[in-house]
Amino acid sequence: MSVSERTYIMVKPDGVQRGIVGNIISRFEARGFKLVALKLVHATPEHLEKHYEDLKGKGFFPGLIKYMASGPVVAMVWEGLDAVKTGRVMLGATNPLASAPGTIRGDFALAVGRNICHGSDSVENAEKEIKLWFPEGTVQYVNDQAKWIFE
Ligand code: ADP
Ligand code: MG
Repeated sequence: MSVSERTYIMVKPDGVQRGIVGNIISRFEARGFKLVALKLVHATPEHLEKHYEDLKGKGFFPGLIKYMASGPVVAMVWEGLDAVKTGRVMLGATNPLASAPGTIRGDFALAVGRNICHGSDSVENAEKEIKLWFPEGTVQYVNDQAKWIFE
């Protein structure tokens, strides 16, 4: 856990089509995380198969790739204290029916196959996902808010 921990957060095609991008960005900003990379991407099935390579072989895998390749996603990197774990808590459980109200999935989704957003599940996977989605690297800048967020 560190102040400069980074996580890969992605608004999935349903979140983009339903106009929830701004709400999701607002939550990460308001919580005190720092945005260090962001882009709108219409990913290829090959790219998405790499992103979800751990799930190859699952029955839902072909449907997952089709869903994720059906439209653009918003790819982001957020930085801050315990960003990976806190990001997952903000997203809610994988199945939205099990997600608490107040989480992104708990506020906006009902179906596991249309659950709006992705967040890295470990620091190691975050590093892999950031490299996969942002081979060009992230942006360095000083955010003056940090002195009000961290002791
Ligand atoms: P998470 O996104 O919470 O890390 P997983 O890594 O287990 O969850 O799965 C990746 C994505 O695959 C989920 O967010 C969801 O979109 C989809 N998925 C997972 N389980 C199912 C399922 N049983 N049926 C359909 N889609 C699923
Ligand atoms: Mg996952």
